[in-house]
Amino acid sequence: MNNENKYQVGIIGGGLAGLTLAIQMANAGYSCVLFEKNKYPFHKVCGEYVSIESWNFLERLGLNLSEMNLPQIKKLNVSAPSGKLLQHKLDLGGFGISRYLLDSKLAEIAKNKGVTSLDDCKVNDVKYDGKQFTIESSQGNFTCEICVGAWGKKSNMDTKLVRAFTLKDKTEKNYVGIKYHINIDFPNDLIELHNFENGYCGISKIEDNKYCLCYLTDSENLKRYNGDIKQMEKEVLMKNPFLKEYFTEAKFLFKEPLAISQIKIGYKNAVDNNILMLGDSAGNIAPLSGNGMSMAMRSSFVLNQLLVDYFNKKITKKELENKYEAFWKTHFKKRVEFSKFLQKLLKNKSLTNFAITVLKVFPFLRNAVVKLTHGESF
Ligand SMILES: Cc1cc2nc3c(=O)[nH]c(=O)nc-3n(C[C@H](O)[C@H](O)[C@H](O)COP(=O)(O)OP(=O)(O)OC[C@H]3O[C@@H](n4cnc5c(N)ncnc54)[C@H](O)[C@@H]3O)c2cc1C
Repeated sequence: MNNENKYQVGIIGGGLAGLTLAIQMANAGYSCVLFEKNKYPFHKVCGEYVSIESWNFLERLGLNLSEMNLPQIKKLNVSAPSGKLLQHKLDLGGFGISRYLLDSKLAEIAKNKGVTSLDDCKVNDVKYDGKQFTIESSQGNFTCEICVGAWGKKSNMDTKLVRAFTLKDKTEKNYVGIKYHINIDFPNDLIELHNFENGYCGISKIEDNKYCLCYLTDSENLKRYNGDIKQMEKEVLMKNPFLKEYFTEAKFLFKEPLAISQIKIGYKNAVDNNILMLGDSAGNIAPLSGNGMSMAMRSSFVLNQLLVDYFNKKITKKELENKYEAFWKTHFKKRVEFSKFLQKLLKNKSLTNFAITVLKVFPFLRNAVVKLTHGESF
C-alpha cells in the first residue's frame, strides 16, 4: 500500500452525516477520505423536510441556502385514517430540499475543500489492529487513524460487523419506505402527515416547484399485497381521503417508486467495534419526527469538535469514544425512543383518531409533542 491511501479520518457513507463531517474535517486541516457506494447525484428515500435548526450549520459549511429559493415550511397538518384533520402552526418549522440536490451539493463542497471523496465505491469490510483501521473498498484498501461509520439506516456493514441490533429478535418490527416526486397544487409553506392503517405519508414542497410524497409502512402491510406497491396504495393508503386525492390528482415524476426495506427504528450504538457511528447508523428516529437529517448533522457537528480535541492530544481515543457515546445518549436516545412510542401510537386506528381529537383541543400539547422531536439551532 502506498502513502496515498493513508488518511487521518476515513468516513464510510456519504449521506448528510458523512458529508458534513468530511467538510468540517477538511476545514480543520485533517486528511479525510469518504466512501459512498452510489454515484452522485442520486435519489434517496426521505421526506426531504429539513428542520430549521440545521440552516445556519449548512450555510457555515458553504451551502448557500439563502440563494436557493427553497420553500420555507411553517404549518403542519396531520390527519387520522378517517380523514379527521389537525392543523398546527410550526414555531421553528423547516425547509424543503431534495436529497438529490442537497447531498450532491455537499459532495461538491467536500471535494473542493480537499476531501478524497470516492463515490461509486462500496466498503466491504473494516479491520482494526488497535492502532489503525484498514478499510477494504471496491477501489482498494485504505488505512486511517479514525474510522467513522456513517452508512445510514441499513448497510452491508451492519451484518459484516455483526452489530448487536442485527442479532436481535428477527420478528421485531421493520418498515418499508417509499418515495415519489410529484407535481401537485399544494401550498408552499405546509407539511402534511396523513395516517393510514399501519403507516403514514408525508407531503411537502422541495425545489423547482416539485413536491416530495413519502411514506413509511409496516413491512407486513406490503407483504399482504405480495409486494405490489400500487395495489397496497389503492387498498390501504387511499382509504384516507387526503391521500386518495393526492394519489389520484398528482403527476408522478419517477417512472418507478423509490423504495427501501428493513428499516428498524431505535438506538443502535454510537460506538461499535471502535468505529464512531454517525447519523442513522448510531440510531434511527421515526421519520414522522422530521428530524433525522438534523440529528445526523448535529452529531457530525459534535463529533468534529471531539475529533479536533483528539488530534490536538487533549483527549485520548478512549475518551473520544466515551464522550461521543455520552453525547448521543444524553441528547438523542430519549428523542429516538419517544418517536418509537409515537409511531406505535399512530399504528392503532382508534388511538390515532383519539389522539388527534385531544391534540385539536390542546395547542400546548401539540407544541410539546413537536418540541420533543426537534432540537435547537447549532
Ligand atoms: C421514509 C422516510 C422518510 C424520512 N423523512 C425525513 C424527513 O422528512 N426529514 C428528516 O429530517 N429526516 C427524514 N428521514 C430520516 C433521514 O432520511 C435520515 O435520518 C438521514 O438520511 C440520515 O442521514 P445519514 O447520513 O445518517 O444516512 P444516509 O443519508 O442514509 O446516508 C448513508 C449513506 O451511506 C451509504 N452507504 C451505505 N453502506 C455503504 C457502504 N458499505 N459503502 C459505502 N457507502 C455506503 C449509502 O449509500 C448512503 O448514501 C426519513 C427517513 C425515512 C426512512
